[in-house]
Amino acid sequence: MIKHRFVVRLNGQPVIDKEGNAYELFREAEGKITQQLWQAFMPGGWQNLRATPVGTKAASNINISVAWECTFNGRAPARPKHVIAAEKAAQAAKGQARREREAKWRAEAEQKVINMRERIKRQVDYAFSQGKTGTEPAAKYITCQHCDGPAAVVCLNQPVARGASVLDEDTIVGALCAAHIQHSPYSYYTRYSRNDVFKVECSKLEFFYDGVRQIAIKAKP
Ligand SMILES: [Zn+2]
Repeated sequence: MIKHRFVVRLNGQPVIDKEGNAYELFREAEGKITQQLWQAFMPGGWQNLRATPVGTKAASNINISVAWECTFNGRAPARPKHVIAAEKAAQAAKGQARREREAKWRAEAEQKVINMRERIKRQVDYAFSQGKTGTEPAAKYITCQHCDGPAAVVCLNQPVARGASVLDEDTIVGALCAAHIQHSPYSYYTRYSRNDVFKVECSKLEFFYDGVRQIAIKAKP
């Protein structure tokens, strides 16, 4: 660490008088002197010179005085061991608290996903329990996870395979109404990872019951 005391006077007025990092003070002094030079050509700054006719003369005196003194050149004094130890302990505690907060948050997020799946599973079970044969539109039974309005999309933990005609019930992780599609995050969390959400429009889905329960994906009309 190197420190200097700088006293810079311009035209007799002190513009810098302080102690600190030598390089920073040097650059600060440079700035003050430059400023003074610009002022010597005011108004208009040096660009005035472009418009002056031949023979124009002017002069200004800028009196610069810079005094400096080296006030420190050596190692910064060692900080007491107990201060360093306390800082490390505080940092460790902070890290631990953060990890605990994140673990709690992840557990809650995970539980939310489980609850949503359970909820939709019940809705799907209910739809099939009606024992109807033939098809029923999915939107009639599946509701939004935020507001219980009729679902516009079902959220899945994996994309529907191209050309698939049946939706695997176990891939459903949520459902959103038209109003909540924008409000919902595009991912969900499990204990291990953050996962992307894939959506399929409810209008494409039909409950199909024919002894075997299936959620059918309608082919494009
Ligand atoms: Zn909604």
